[in-house]
Parts: sequence; C-alpha cells; structure tokens
Amino acid sequence: MTAPPHPLRAVRGEFVHFLADPAAYGDRALEHFADGVLVVRDGHVAELGPAAAVLAKLPAGTPLADYRGKLILPGFIDTHIHYAQTDIIASHGEQLLAWLEKYTFPAEARFADPAHAAEVAAFFCDELLKNGTTTALAFATVHPASVDALFAAAQRRQMRLIAGKVLMDRHCPDFLRDTAARGAVESKALIARWHGRDRLLYALTPRFAPTSTPEQMRLAGRLFAEHPGVYLQSHVAENRAEADWVARLYPEARSYLDVYDRFGQLGARAVFAHCLWLDDADRLRIADTGTAISFCPTSNLFLGSGLFDLERARALGIRVGLGTDIGAGTSFSMLQTLSEAYKALQLSGQTLSAASAFHLATLGGAHSLYLDGRIGNFLPGKEADFVVLDPRATALLARRSAGCATLGERLFVLMMLGDDRAVAATHVLGEAAWQRPE
Ligand SMILES: [Zn+2]
Repeated sequence: MTAPPHPLRAVRGEFVHFLADPAAYGDRALEHFADGVLVVRDGHVAELGPAAAVLAKLPAGTPLADYRGKLILPGFIDTHIHYAQTDIIASHGEQLLAWLEKYTFPAEARFADPAHAAEVAAFFCDELLKNGTTTALAFATVHPASVDALFAAAQRRQMRLIAGKVLMDRHCPDFLRDTAARGAVESKALIARWHGRDRLLYALTPRFAPTSTPEQMRLAGRLFAEHPGVYLQSHVAENRAEADWVARLYPEARSYLDVYDRFGQLGARAVFAHCLWLDDADRLRIADTGTAISFCPTSNLFLGSGLFDLERARALGIRVGLGTDIGAGTSFSMLQTLSEAYKALQLSGQTLSAASAFHLATLGGAHSLYLDGRIGNFLPGKEADFVVLDPRATALLARRSAGCATLGERLFVLMMLGDDRAVAATHVLGEAAWQRPE
C-alpha cells in the first residue's frame, strides 16, 4: 500500500477548470488563473486562487510543486474503455461484429489466467495515468478474477475507477460464456468485495443485448435496482448490422434502446457507449431517465460505425461523457480523443469549442457519472486529481502555441496536436502518480 498523502501541499502553475457547462453558460463556465496555486489537504482541494494571494497565507514549510509554464486541469475522465482489449488496439480491417469474433473474444479468453490479467491491469492503469486520465469506467472480461486484477491495480494507485465483470451467456464462444444465474451470483460477490472500497465502484456490465439472454438481462436489471449507487454499463446502437440483429432477437422491443429499458437498465448511473443509431423517442427516454451516453469518436471512426449527434443530445439535456473505447478506439489519450471528436462532429456539420471539449473530458464526464460532487473541477472538497499539460512538449506544439493569442486557441492547439507526450505529470489525490522523464 502507498503511504498516506501529506496533510498539506501546494501546486503552482496556470490553472483551468469548469464550474458549469460552457455550451450553456459560455465563458462564465470557465475559471482561469494564469498564475495560480492549488492547496491540497489530505488529498482534497482546500483552495485554488491567484498565486500571490494564496502563497501569502500558506503556512511556512508547505511543500510546493512548481509547474509554472504548464497548464493544470482536473484529471481526465474516460467514461468507456475495455482494459482487456489493451493488446488488440489497432487491429486491422473489420466492423463491429466481425471485429468482436476475430480479435476481441480471443484476447478476452486470455483473462482466464489471473497472472495475465494482473500484468495487463498494471500496464493499463499506468497508461491511463501517463495520459492524464485519473478516472475510468471500464469493462473487464467475463472472468471475475479479471475484475479483481483491475480493481487491485487501481487501488494500489489510489485511482477512482468503476468496473465490472462482463455478463455474456449467448452468441459468444463457449470459453467466454457464463450463465444468467452464475453471472448474477458472481456480480453480487464482486459488488460485496469492491463497491465503495477506497475509490472503487462497481458497474453491472451486460456486454450488449445480443450476447445476453432475456433472463440474464432481467437479472442484471434486478441487481441494478437492488444496489443503489452501483453502475450499469453497456453498448447501444453502435453499428447498423448490430441494430438489425437486436431487432430480430427482441422483436417485441420498440427499438434497441428499448430492450435495456424493458429490463430496467436505464437510469442514473447507467452509461451506454455510442448511441449512434437512435431516434428522438430513444433520446428523450435517455434524458428523462438520467441515463448517460459515452461518446467514443476514435472507435466510431475506426470501426466505421457512424457519427454521434452531440448537438441533439445537448438540446435534450442528456448527460454526455467522452470514452476512448480501447481497443476499438485508437488512443488512450483524451487529447487525441478530443481531436477526433472535433473531426467527427465536423463531418456532421457540428462544432466543438476547446472549452466544450475540455469540459467533456473533465466536469462533463464527472456529471455523466454522477461524480461531479467529488471530481471534475477544483472546487473546495473535491478529490485533488489533476493533469499537468506542457504546451511546449514537442517542437511543433511549442512553435504553434507561441503563436496563440487566447486561452481558447492554446487549448485547441493542445487537443489537436497533443498526446501522452504533452502530459508532464498526473497527480492522484494531490500526489504525483506519473511524471514524464525529463
Ligand atoms: Zn466498448
């Protein structure tokens, strides 16, 4: 176990965070300190303000990390990712259903081996931190030990992580199939073991409607209702062939989304990745139930799945976060994910400001997970997770950043040109969890 955090510490640099959604509140949503100091007490934010004012009252001897010249933002929040697919990122040539058969299922089968799971979990958590991501909502595999491995790795790093065992009792290879009853028993045991322990939270994880029998879907919905505070994560309306398949499997449902609705799987703390092929009746139902969407642009482009309608989701007041969707997504970097989000939206004639983009990756993600009371910005009492971005990380970034006149331009350049090289450090509960070698 790591040592307890130092009671009081301070961090100096240029700070940017959000108090609200800039899509609704414009510039007032963003707070910026060109030279700021963040004071952290026992891993939580005590204060953020202008350096001169905060330093003047800081007790002598308080340790101070000096990141002047760099931009400090709340830690990034990845609302959809598969840790067991780390090793199949960048696998060529398929769309969703063939991609699952050809690459995903064989990769996930290896997680029957706890040693393999532990090795991948450690790499995965380190890779998140290296990219400035301090919170993730992650799929494990059908094996309960794969969940244990991931939670143990996150716990050692003090990360806030939500994860769950995949429920999958049909339309998959025998070696990855559970049963409705066994999946429910195993999920229950994992909730008892991990939910609410340190910063860890559990998510019921039916992979998607086609790979669960109606009985398994029913039991997942029941567990979701029986365990307040527990999450539910799945996929919906990613690919047109997938949606047609669901229509054949569940002819009684009005739509793909309606399948989840009928089994009690919508609501606060339910998060559905993709949501590309929905109609407005679906979107209204998502909004009314407080369900969240994870927008996964690199995955949507990579698998040729389709384009997400962010404007419509926003107009209806839907909670939206951002997901890398590793391994169909092509980068652990939320900066790269924002870059692809911008481009994907351009293809639909929509736009994404730098402020909206970074809001999605921080407070917006926290809001989508109902965690905005704990993470997502630097208000007093929040958990002090943050990322330190270096606008001069590469020769090109330095050159382009030097020509920027406004904060908005600098943030936009960072998200278009930045990746893990731009992450100088990542702090978890105030402490450095990753530092780029100088
Ligand atoms: Zn996914």
